[in-house]
Amino acid sequence: MSVATKQLVIILLGAPGAGKGTHAGPLSEKLKLPHISTGNLFREHISADSPLGKLAKICMNAGNLVPDELVFNMLFDRVAKPDCERGYILDGFPRTVAQAKVLDRAVQPIALYFSVPDEILIERMTNRLTCPKCNKPYSKSDSCCDVCLVPLIQRADDREEVVRRRLEVYHTQTQPVIDYYAKKNLIPILATGTREEIFQTVLKACQDKG
Ligand code: AMP
Repeated sequence: MSVATKQLVIILLGAPGAGKGTHAGPLSEKLKLPHISTGNLFREHISADSPLGKLAKICMNAGNLVPDELVFNMLFDRVAKPDCERGYILDGFPRTVAQAKVLDRAVQPIALYFSVPDEILIERMTNRLTCPKCNKPYSKSDSCCDVCLVPLIQRADDREEVVRRRLEVYHTQTQPVIDYYAKKNLIPILATGTREEIFQTVLKACQDKG
């Protein structure tokens, strides 16, 4: 007889550069749930030069959001995979209230909000490097990915003018998502301490709620 288990779905909310991607990897290992980053899924499409990748690249390099319909199809395919049966960690989704409403029709997510002032975000993003293979974020003092052993790159959308546009888009389109979850069950995480301190707060919040 199979026993139905409740899915544990965690959403990591916050501005670009707030640390969602940094903590999603270790959180995924600890909770044994897949880390699903919609930004990474789009970057995979861009690397494969797929039709979706071509469209996404135009939006991403301008610092704009990819249209909701394109995000939904891609994400639904991913969460239908067997490794998502127990649950999953979403990083970079939802980014609009429309996306949040669609997600909430399917699951009851635990929403964590990483809050960081804008000045720190701009400095973090313009100073970060990324692995072109696994997308793990690094600081400018690193040169090579410790997992994939390939040289790090600066993401095209981490250039200062694009970063400023991404923050503008975040405040107009994604801040309402924070307000939406604040009325339900938002867990705020002050994400300006050390990496380890922030991670322990994140982990505790997930374990308390999960
Ligand atoms: P990220 O890696 O999460 O910073 O995402 C990089 C870019 O991918 C964003 O600036 C958007 O252009 C696009 N993107 C990622 N997730 C979404 C989403 N949920 N909705 C719309 N666009 C997205």
